[in-house]
Amino acid sequence: MKSPIPDYLADVLDAVRGIEDGAPADYIDVLARADVSRLAVALATVDGEVYAVGDHDVEFSIQSISKPFAYALAIEDNGLDRVLERVGVEPSGNAFNELSLEAGSHRPMNPMINAGAIATHALVATPGASREARITRFVDVMSRLAGRPLSVDEAVFDAELRDGNRNMGLGYMLKAGGMLDCDPGEAVSGYIRQCSVNVNVRDLALMAATLANAGQQPQTGEPIFPASSVRQVLSVMTSCGMYDAAGDWITTVGIPAKSGVAGGIIGALPGQLGLAVFSPRLDGHGNSVRGVAVCERLSRDMGLHMMDVSQIGRSLVHVLEATLGGGARQDGEDVVPIYELRGAVRFGGAELLTRHLARDFGTSEGQDDGIGTYAGARAVILSLRHTHSLSDVAQRVLRENIRRLHDDGRDVVVIDPSGVLDLAPIEADKRPVAVDDDEAARHHVGGTHCRLVSSREPAD
Ligand code: GLN
Repeated sequence: MKSPIPDYLADVLDAVRGIEDGAPADYIDVLARADVSRLAVALATVDGEVYAVGDHDVEFSIQSISKPFAYALAIEDNGLDRVLERVGVEPSGNAFNELSLEAGSHRPMNPMINAGAIATHALVATPGASREARITRFVDVMSRLAGRPLSVDEAVFDAELRDGNRNMGLGYMLKAGGMLDCDPGEAVSGYIRQCSVNVNVRDLALMAATLANAGQQPQTGEPIFPASSVRQVLSVMTSCGMYDAAGDWITTVGIPAKSGVAGGIIGALPGQLGLAVFSPRLDGHGNSVRGVAVCERLSRDMGLHMMDVSQIGRSLVHVLEATLGGGARQDGEDVVPIYELRGAVRFGGAELLTRHLARDFGTSEGQDDGIGTYAGARAVILSLRHTHSLSDVAQRVLRENIRRLHDDGRDVVVIDPSGVLDLAPIEADKRPVAVDDDEAARHHVGGTHCRLVSSREPAD
């Protein structure tokens, strides 16, 4: 069977091809002469599949799409606190090349506008590194993100440097404000080189997918940025990535994004995918007109808006019962409830399980607010066979439930073939037995006499 996804992406490109609004960036002459018919889209999943359609192997300069990656490097090389002393995280609501610094602190408002990006570039590599060392570090990381060697487009670099008075002005302003250690000309020309790295939409989609994948390149598996830096970068992309159109973007498309004046846009949807589009004509904010239209359409058709609460995957609790001995449920002692926790479990799923345990094992007496379905049960099985993952808080909540069941005098067995729950923090005398499958769990609580009798969906 032929995958419908490339056909769908081709349809989306066809639907926007008729849009002829906007114009290529005119302040960099190489960009002003761009072929405006070029149009491409690529989508990369967090497990490394790439769909690329249209002019997907046409290269263009990365421009401002380089900024989030330079920010991630600056954080890695200096620590977040030091970077925050030099560059803020507030959306400016201004154009990307606005000549302004935060009143009082003299920091640029954020790393996505040029002032912040120049200060950020100067923080890449070790303090005092040469311009060459900074750009080498940057190009090396961008190549690892793309999964192929990338290089600087010298014609774009020369053209932008030649007409770079505005960015030079920003460099001197930053130096005067105490936000640059190096020479302003060096910071600005390094920043312009950073913007002149050539990429295609495939490269960009993989870069975005690396952010969506918590910093791990989906195809090579290489951990490139720590998850904590990625969270910072995606947050700033969300509030500042589309400059003074950020509010419009986040309400309509709803994906952390970054645009560049050569006509590229990336979007990184956490945990799902990276996407990239390319079309050279820009709107008044410096964002690709057709690129924005493609992203709006993809977000709408594919339900990619990150604030779309209608499709948040919920964890489920499923309860089964096994019985010891003869099978007749007398005072409840013979019943062994099996709680199966399913899905990617975060606080919500852990709380759901806790609610069931408290209700089923609690009584209506004292402080417990339970109905005591299993108040008499001596053993409990917690099955994590279908648990995809447990967040940190879910781990802590589950461990506390296990301790409490133990303190109530119950024998707890955990079925956890892939080891999603870390039991080590539980005190040795309270630590439950962990087994690989249901049969081993039932064998542990009741030998050969323990058998499955029923399954019930818990009442909500
Ligand atoms: N190199 C460009 C500049 O500094 C980048 C701007 C952009 O892509 N928005 O003007």
